[in-house]
Amino acid sequence: MKPAPFRYADPRSLDEALDVLSAEAGAKVLAGGQSLLPLLAMRLAAPSTLVDLNRVPGLDAVEATGDGVRVGALVRHAHLLRDTAAARVQPLLARATANVAHPAIRNRGTTVGSIAHADPSGEMTSVLALTDGSVTVATPGGRETVGWRDLFVGPLETSLSGPSVVVDAFFPALAERSGTAFAEISRRKGDYAVCGAGVVVTLDGDRRVAAVRASYISVGLVPEVHDLTEAVAGKPVDGADWAAAGALARTLVDPDGDIHASADYRRLLVGVLTERTLAEAAAEALERTA
Ligand code: FAD
Repeated sequence: MKPAPFRYADPRSLDEALDVLSAEAGAKVLAGGQSLLPLLAMRLAAPSTLVDLNRVPGLDAVEATGDGVRVGALVRHAHLLRDTAAARVQPLLARATANVAHPAIRNRGTTVGSIAHADPSGEMTSVLALTDGSVTVATPGGRETVGWRDLFVGPLETSLSGPSVVVDAFFPALAERSGTAFAEISRRKGDYAVCGAGVVVTLDGDRRVAAVRASYISVGLVPEVHDLTEAVAGKPVDGADWAAAGALARTLVDPDGDIHASADYRRLLVGVLTERTLAEAAAEALERTA
């Protein structure tokens, strides 16, 4: 199919982009186009104007500091995947991004676009949640920071309304004595995950488990973070029963079934992936604990 007719604007500044978005309620931001253009082609979306961000300067940087990683709106998945400083500060970024689609899509699609698209099958929405991240939103009235809990309101739906552009996403740094892991099951490599899991394990000064958090992909309508600490709290890494944490996770999630997998199968995968990833993350946490 072909898209319904639309106008195209290629602003040279954020203000210009916001002017077009303010003038037309039906205008929509275009970043990498890897989700929006298929929606247009299938006539599931019909914006009056596409406001292409690609010529707006200053949106294509990854800044990694001791506090975290700030990813600009035009940073492609492939760029973030290659950024070794970002991977050092928050290892979940590279681990999750490696699972986003195929190289051709990663070359064009953006991390921030993924977040703005708010697909519960997307990896980066879950990573934003798991790292307790936020986005910076520019509107004609100024800029504001929106935390992940306030951002995601439903599948493919964010709380952003009116003329607004997400200018960056911020992922806080991995805390000390912590390790991460990420894994997913998909029908073919690069496909959207049938189920995925990202986890963070934090140890105390005695190298015992102090905190365990997990977030799942293609499970639930919006990203959620589950606290699994009670299943393994106070255990040494080699004595922790990760299967118990997996069993707890299965009771906390509420997956839907669809043509790709039943709800029961997804729940089973949550348990398996949790057990697997926690063992890996705990080993990394141990390595990072002096
Ligand atoms: P666009 O397609 O340009 O925009 C998507 C939506 O976000 C639009 O509504 C747009 O208006 C809005 N938007 C984008 N940027 C901003 C902004 N800065 N401010 C406000 N709104 C904005 N993704 C995954 O996560 N995992 C996968 O496994 C995966 N597999 C894929 C497989 C295929 C075959 C395809 C075609 C895509 C796949 N994707 C997958 C989607 C891909 O990751 C997209 O890049 C991403 O979802 C959207 O980023 P984009 O830059 O292309 O955004």
